[in-house]
Amino acid sequence: MPELRHDPISKRWVIIASERGRRPDDFPKQADTTPAGFCPFCEGNESKTPPEIAAIRYNGSGPNQPGWKVRVVPNKFPALRIEGNLDRRGLGVHDRMNGVGAHEVIIETPKHDLNMCDMPVSDLEQVIRIWRDRLVDLVRDNRFKYILIFKNYGAAAGASLSHPHSQLIATPVTPLTLTGELTSAKEHYHEKERCLFCDLIQQELESGERIVLCNDQFVAIAPFASRFPFEIFLAPRYHNHSFAEISDAMIRHLALALKEVLLRIRKCLNDPPYNFLIHTIPNVKVRPKRTSYWDTIEVDFHWHIEIMPRLTGIAGFEWGTGFYINPTAPEEAAKYLREIEL
Ligand SMILES: [Zn+2]
Ligand SMILES: [Zn+2]
Ligand SMILES: [Zn+2]
Repeated sequence: MPELRHDPISKRWVIIASERGRRPDDFPKQADTTPAGFCPFCEGNESKTPPEIAAIRYNGSGPNQPGWKVRVVPNKFPALRIEGNLDRRGLGVHDRMNGVGAHEVIIETPKHDLNMCDMPVSDLEQVIRIWRDRLVDLVRDNRFKYILIFKNYGAAAGASLSHPHSQLIATPVTPLTLTGELTSAKEHYHEKERCLFCDLIQQELESGERIVLCNDQFVAIAPFASRFPFEIFLAPRYHNHSFAEISDAMIRHLALALKEVLLRIRKCLNDPPYNFLIHTIPNVKVRPKRTSYWDTIEVDFHWHIEIMPRLTGIAGFEWGTGFYINPTAPEEAAKYLREIEL
């Protein structure tokens, strides 16, 4: 069983997944051990993954058989385990709990070489719909406080298999990054009775210099204080706190916006590795009403996607300070991305 441990100095939780059993010698050759050429995510290899949790299939095809469009399976090497209870305990100044959570893989297409940005919009809509549906399902489990959907593209961004896939990890604690965003959003709301994100989006739309694209429902911005070159913030233009509540009509607009952002990144930056992640509200339903974050969360928090091309590394200064040195001004990045011809 993996274990969650809390560091009282940084206030950060860490997953100790020692059953992955990495010894010193295992680290230099970290590449996965699947035989070259074999891909467990390809159609026909369904028996090589754990049994599927959900899928979108052509009529008549059965679970764990060929004939799917999108398939969700448990991660074969999960960072957290679905079974068991949390068994929270203190050990002196330390806190620990069992590594209970969910770790799922969303196989986005049967086509091994299909880049997400080349997917037909209707196929991308199906991927987004399954992200939403998995979130809605996992929110019911009251052991989970946060559910993160993310994608690693390219080995340098952490993808160990090249077949198009995204992942979902449900954690029994709210991650510190989210707590920071929630606190800022709540403080802004309490002072001004407005959503911080809506204010930012409005301001960016008025100035226009950091806008990458904008459709009827979504806007992509190079954030004013981007940590990384060509970082992008993609969000609904109109207030919405929860990705779990996204409608099918909104999914269409999101698919269009996400596809275009990814196409622009590929063309502009020569197909770089990237990470993206969805920040939505924590699992509010399991929280007691009195807990301080939550009383205005529906009006103060605004869900969004953060996209980070991996063009620069994180080195000593960043680790030591939490400061980032970004060699490309976001205004320049937005201009390049906006103006590149697709
Ligand atoms: Zn494959
Ligand atoms: Zn808002
Ligand atoms: Zn965020």
